[in-house]
Formats: sequence, structure tokens, C-alpha cells
Amino acid sequence: MPVVEVFDTTLRDGLQVEGVSATVEDKLRIAEQLDHLGVHYIEGGWPGANPKDIEFFARAASELELATSTLVAFGSTRRPRGKVDDDATLRNLVEAGTSAVCIVAKSSEYQVVEALKTTLDEGASMIADSVRFLRGEGRTVLVDLEHFFDGYRSNPEFSLRAIEAAVVNGASHLVLCDTNGGTLPTEIGRIVGDVVAHVGDDAIIGIHCHDDTGCAVANSMAAVDAGARHVQGTLNGLGERTGNTNLSTVIPNLQLKQGYECLPEGHLERLTVVSHHVAETLNRAVNPQAPYVGSSAFAHKAGLHVSAIVRAKDAYEHVDPDQVGNGTRFVVSEMAGRATIQTKSDELGLSMDGAVINQVIDDLKRLEHEGYHFEAADASLELLMRRASGGVPEFFRVESMRVITDELPDGEFNTEATVKVWVGSGDAAERHVWVAEGNGPVNAIDIALRKAIGKALPQLARIHLTDFKVRILDGGSATGATTRVLLTATDGERDWTTIGVSPNIIEASWRALEDSLVFGLLHSVEDP
Ligand SMILES: [Zn+2]
Repeated sequence: MPVVEVFDTTLRDGLQVEGVSATVEDKLRIAEQLDHLGVHYIEGGWPGANPKDIEFFARAASELELATSTLVAFGSTRRPRGKVDDDATLRNLVEAGTSAVCIVAKSSEYQVVEALKTTLDEGASMIADSVRFLRGEGRTVLVDLEHFFDGYRSNPEFSLRAIEAAVVNGASHLVLCDTNGGTLPTEIGRIVGDVVAHVGDDAIIGIHCHDDTGCAVANSMAAVDAGARHVQGTLNGLGERTGNTNLSTVIPNLQLKQGYECLPEGHLERLTVVSHHVAETLNRAVNPQAPYVGSSAFAHKAGLHVSAIVRAKDAYEHVDPDQVGNGTRFVVSEMAGRATIQTKSDELGLSMDGAVINQVIDDLKRLEHEGYHFEAADASLELLMRRASGGVPEFFRVESMRVITDELPDGEFNTEATVKVWVGSGDAAERHVWVAEGNGPVNAIDIALRKAIGKALPQLARIHLTDFKVRILDGGSATGATTRVLLTATDGERDWTTIGVSPNIIEASWRALEDSLVFGLLHSVEDP
């Protein structure tokens, strides 16, 4: 199988996205995950642009043991009219101590003349000198040709000259960047084809796309069709504006559908877990509808369809979800009949007889009538089915709880929860009472409960809540309306959603929270 190298830039370009920041510790953990997945290159950051990245490379050198990936430091060519040996950017790059470096170079006439305010000759020299200098320092040099497609459209001679300056001085990779993200697949394919024909075997052609037209994955695939053998992007498509090429999509596309080798043998099935793990570390949930790795990517609804898919899985799935480490999921709703519940029961490994299945169907109908909605709350459904078949241990039992919210003289609100709870069973059960403050009632209950039972159930420390959604169901009765709460939690590897419904918002929240913690505890026992 021909190899297409994967270059992940989550730790550099990916962190440009609004609202995301990562500590050095986070970056080290993400690098480990990317290495576990098996990408060829991990771009770690821009040493010199910020002190955090200098610290990252220093710690990476001593703390990271990468099995498959090569760590890359990012920088730029020397400044205009400057010299390589006293250029701070190049010095920082060398001091990062990585075997490979990636430098961004201006390859468009417009950018050289207007942004750098210099001549095309000097523009080409900046590339040539910088590559030569870094090769002299023993580094593998990848060159990111910024604004390449826009530049090629208006002055292809200069863009090819920029390429030549990099190649003749020993660059290993020429990465063509659609920096503004506005180019479409047909044109990407045509221009990459021109460059591949021009460069031949002298360097590997790479592609770096942004998703401003929703075509980053399609553009990267068009580039590979035209001969590119190196794809840059980020897991889950993280990146500024609309994001970078989504590696979680493009890797399985290239590997499963086009026969390219992107990851080492047997590693593709790590994709879903690693995508979620990285997203979690950055506090960004994976879009449920994301191709291949989203929680809905292989979810099936409605009775007829479900019984068909049980007979022939490939009738409704474009690939086998196991290949990317995801799984088929049957979504249960009121419309669902016995077949769906039976299938879900088999999926969970429960042996439910006819009477239990009837009981579950009755419960579902009643609860959905009250406003429960299990399609969105798989974990609550699983607990309901496990409880019906007697398979959920009592991790804790709440005797009572009380929440008080005061408005203080300065207009601030103060919320305090008291929880009385029993842990353990029979004579060994222990009673714990704890009081905690929170920024709201649910937060205060969560904190108090964790304090009360956290010592006996240390697995709770891994479980945290990531999303909390409240909806009013019968809006007509205003403050007397029924409230539906959906709570999403994670243990860093899997995400789950639970539901609670009640006219009392605190009770609804509590139902969802209790299910959420019980589900997390149940699975931490099952798969330690
Ligand atoms: Zn970029």
C-alpha cells in the first residue's frame, strides 16, 4: 500500500481556535495520544513565539518517549534582509532540539511584496538561506508554503521559484498550504498535479488545508489523488476560523476507501478513543455527528431498520465501525418495538426474557409520556434495562438532601447543599453527611455528594460533567412547567448522557446526576 504520511498540527495550528488553551502538561498528554495513534509527525508548537512552547520542547526532550511519531518544531524563514546566523526564530528552532523542523515560507508574490515589503529575489533567498542553515544543523526540514494556491493562481513562476529554493537546499517536504481556505477540490488537484510533475522525486509534496468552504477533507483527498503523499491537519478538525483538515475523517477515508497506509498496521481502530481523548483534554466535546468517530456515526433508529441491520450489518453502514474503534448503536425511542429492545439487550450482554422485555417497554412508554427522551440519553436507557434485569449494584443510597440559595446583601447568590448518604450495603453500610457550596444548586449537590462518597469510591475522581442542558417541556404553564435535564459526563475515554425529568428543576437535575455517576461507576468497575 502506498504510504500517505500524517502530520498532526493540533498542538500548533489547532490551538489557534477561539476558546481553547492548553497547558504544557496537556500538550505532553496529547502528544502521547497522537503517538499512540501512530501519526508520522507531531507539530509541537512554535518555540520563540511563546514561553510555553519553549517549556514544552524542553520537557518533551526528557519526558516524552515517542514510539512511532517524530516531534516537529515550527518556525519561519529568516526575516527579510536579515542573516541566518543571528536570526532569533531560527536559533529557537534549533534549540528546540527536535530532529525535524517545519518552517513557514511566503510563496505568493502578493504576500512577499505586500506583507514582507521586499523583492521577489529576497523572498526566494529567505527560503534558500533558511533551509540551507537548518540542514547544516542536521535537521530534516519541511517547508510550509503559505498562501501557495492563491499565489500560484496569480504568479505561478514565483510560487515554483519558492519551491525550487527549498528543494535545491535540501527540504524533505514541500507542504502546499491553502492558508485562507478558499480553494476548491478541482483546482487543488490541478495545481498539486502541476507541482508534483515539476518536483518529481526530489521532495515529498504535502497538503495543508483549512475548512472555510467545508472542503478541507475533500481538498486534501484531491491533493493525494494528484500525487501528494503527506497530509497535515488536526484530530477533530480543530483550528482557527472553521478549522483545519479533520484527520479523524481523512485518515479512514484514505486508508479504508482508497488503500493508502496512513497509520501503522492495527492502529486505525484506536482512532475513536484517541479523538475523544484529545478533545476531552482540550475541553471540547467531539461533535456527535462527526464522521467515523462521532457517537451518532453508527447509530440507528426506528424498528424496521433495526431489525434489518441485525440481519445484515453492512446494509446500513458504509464501513464496519470496529475498523475505527467505534460501534454500532441502536437508538431506542417510543416507536421502537420488541426487536429494538431485544437487540439493545443483546448488545449490552443482558439475558432478558420476554417478561422483562415487556416490563422495559412499559416503563419506556410511561417515562416517554412523562417527558423522558431516551434517544439522547443512552446511559439512562442502559441503566433502566440493567435495573430491570437486576444488574446494577447499589453504590450509594441518598437518605436526604437539601439545597439553600441565599441572596447576599451585595446582590451575589450563595448556594449550599447538604447531602446525607449511605455507602456500602447491609451492616457494613456507612453514613456520610457533607455540606458544600457551589455556583448553583446542581454544582453544590455534585460537590457535596462527591465529598461524601469520594473516599469510598475513588473512581469518581475520573468522572466529570461536561455538559448540562435544560429544556422546558410544556412551556404553556411557565414556571409550573416540566423540566427536562440532559447531563453529559466523561471519564476521559467515553462520554455518556443521562436524563432527568420533573416539574422541579432540582429533582430533574438530581435524577440525571445520579444516573450519570452510577453509569460511570458501573463502567469503571467493569473495565478498570
Ligand atoms: Zn494552517
